[in-house]
Amino acid sequence: MEFDLIELVRARCALARADVRVGIGDDGAVLAPPAGHELVAVTDTLVEHVHFPVATRPEDIGWKSLAVNLSDLAAMGATPAWALLALTLPAPDRDFVERFAEGFAELAAQHGVALVGGDTTKGPLTITVSAFGFVPPGKALLRSGARAGDLVFVTGTLGDAAAGLRFPFEGLFQSPASAEACDALRARLDRPSPRIAAGLVLRDRASACIDVSDGLLADVGHVARASGVGIDISALALPASPALLQAFGAPERLALQTTGGDDYELAFTLAPKHEGIVLHDLAKAGCGATRIGRVVAGAGVRLLDAQGGEIATKRRGWEHFA
Ligand code: ADP
Ligand code: MG
Repeated sequence: MEFDLIELVRARCALARADVRVGIGDDGAVLAPPAGHELVAVTDTLVEHVHFPVATRPEDIGWKSLAVNLSDLAAMGATPAWALLALTLPAPDRDFVERFAEGFAELAAQHGVALVGGDTTKGPLTITVSAFGFVPPGKALLRSGARAGDLVFVTGTLGDAAAGLRFPFEGLFQSPASAEACDALRARLDRPSPRIAAGLVLRDRASACIDVSDGLLADVGHVARASGVGIDISALALPASPALLQAFGAPERLALQTTGGDDYELAFTLAPKHEGIVLHDLAKAGCGATRIGRVVAGAGVRLLDAQGGEIATKRRGWEHFA
C-alpha cells in the first residue's frame, strides 16, 4: 500500500530536471547543484489543527506544504530546484494522496521544482517538506543586514490569511463583506504565493529580508534582533487588500495586519538610494511592495500612529521576539 501511495505521488510530482541524476525510487536522491553556486536548504512542517483547519481541502494542503517552504527560499533570495516530502497519514487514503499531490504538483510546476524523494508513514496527519535552491556565492539574503537609516518594505498585502481563518466554512461567520471577499481571504490562507521573483530582485539590493509567517511585528522583530537595530512601523502605511478593507473595520484590521500570521509576503530593508530601482524591478517582476517603516538605532519594534505615537498592541507576544 505504502508503495502504491509513493507511486501516486511520484507520477504527479516528479518533474524532469537535468540536475536530478537519481530521483524517487532509490535510497536517496542524487543531485547536481550548478557549479559555483551555494545551496540553500529549508524545511517546514504542517500539522492538522495547528497549521491548517481540519476542513482544508487536500489540494490546498498539498499546495501550502510546498508554498511555505518556497517562501523561505524566496526570503533567502534563492532559486528553487528540489523538494523532499515526508507524509504521515492516519490511513492509506488514495483519494487524499491524489488530491494532495495535485495541489503540490501545481505549485511545483509553476516554479520548476522537482520532488526527488521523501517518506510515507502512518500517524496523525503531518506533512514535512524540505526544499533546496541556489544562490550565487555570498548572495543569500539574511536577516542580519539592516542598518539604521534603511527603509522597511513589505510585498503584497497583510492580514488576509489571518482574516481567511475566520471563514472556515461558508456562511458560518456573519460578515459585512461579500461572499467573493470572504473567498478571496480564504484563498490567501489556503494558497499562499511564495514571492520567489521578488526574492531574486531583492538579493542584489536588500540589506535584510524575512518572510512574514508569524505576523509582521514578530517577523520584523527577528530582523531587528538579528541586525542589532530598532524598527519603526507606520500603522497607516500597512497595505490592505480590498477584501480585507471590506470585511474588517480599522481596529481589527490593524490587529490582523500586524499580528496575524500566514501571509508569506516578504518584509525587507533597503538603503534609501535603492528604493526607486527596487520598486521598479519588483513591479516588473509582478510583485508590488509598499514602504511601511524605517530602521532606527536601538532595539525592538514600535508600531506608530500618524502622529508618531506608539500604538499599544493587544497581543504582546511578539515583543519577546523584538
Ligand atoms: P527506504 O525504506 O529506503 O527509506 P522508502 O520505501 O521509504 O525507502 O521510499 C522509497 C522511495 O520512495 C525513496 O526514493 C523515497 O525517497 C521515495 N518516497 C517515499 N515516500 C515519498 C513521498 N511521500 N514523496 C516522495 N517520495 C517518496
Ligand atoms: Mg523510508
